[in-house]
Amino acid sequence: MKTTRRRTLPLPLLFTLSLLLFAAGMGVGWSGASAYDQPAPQPLDISEPALAAVTLPPLQPSAAPLDKPSPAPDSWNLMLVNFGHALPDSFSIPDLARLRNGHAVDSRIYPALQAMMDDARTAGLQPLICSSYRSQDTQAQLFEAEVQNWLARGCTQQDAQRQAAMWVARPGTSEHQTGLAVDIVDTSYQILDEGQENTPVQQWLMAHCAEYGFILRYPTDKSEITGVGYEPWHYRYVGVEAAREIMANGLCLEEYLALT
Ligand SMILES: [Zn+2]
Repeated sequence: MKTTRRRTLPLPLLFTLSLLLFAAGMGVGWSGASAYDQPAPQPLDISEPALAAVTLPPLQPSAAPLDKPSPAPDSWNLMLVNFGHALPDSFSIPDLARLRNGHAVDSRIYPALQAMMDDARTAGLQPLICSSYRSQDTQAQLFEAEVQNWLARGCTQQDAQRQAAMWVARPGTSEHQTGLAVDIVDTSYQILDEGQENTPVQQWLMAHCAEYGFILRYPTDKSEITGVGYEPWHYRYVGVEAAREIMANGLCLEEYLALT
């Protein structure tokens, strides 16, 4: 990224600087774009020896300071999928990487997910992926089952649809269809309710997920924005830069994207 930083300097100082540059010689390869414009990516703090074979995800090539996000809005890792943003017609099933327990994710996030899971286990925890990539048909079945649950509780069809959508995304609006999201629980507590947040696995994931490019996608106080109830088990890959920004500032993805 070659950008020239403009500053207002007093004319005498400008003149002096010009002389100095000229005196230093113009043939030494000095360029207006320097390392100052391209801060070196920071290494991830996940260098356990057991992970030597794991390929860590590359940082964004133009990593910006954390207080100045500048992601390309159409970056694959920042794809927004929610109740108001269905998957586009052009969306095709991602290249999937199969996990050992039968789950699958977009192959581009596999190294980061594997590293996060490995490090959690190295920390003495027992994380378990209980949901990952879903096809459109699977999502439709899950949504219909949730609607039936609410109908059985006496809701009208309209209310049942609305309530169901708070917990199971309508087909075409689930992040699980992107392959970029996983549900992770503590093996010792596999119930998907708010109690999940108190498990050692969730405490660790909430503290460290951003280091691997993941965010807690549906925080407790963002339901009105995300349209999804608190889910202290649903993690979404957005890349390290965005994840650090989002988690450090208590944002949800919708708020982060609105800033850029
Ligand atoms: Zn989920």
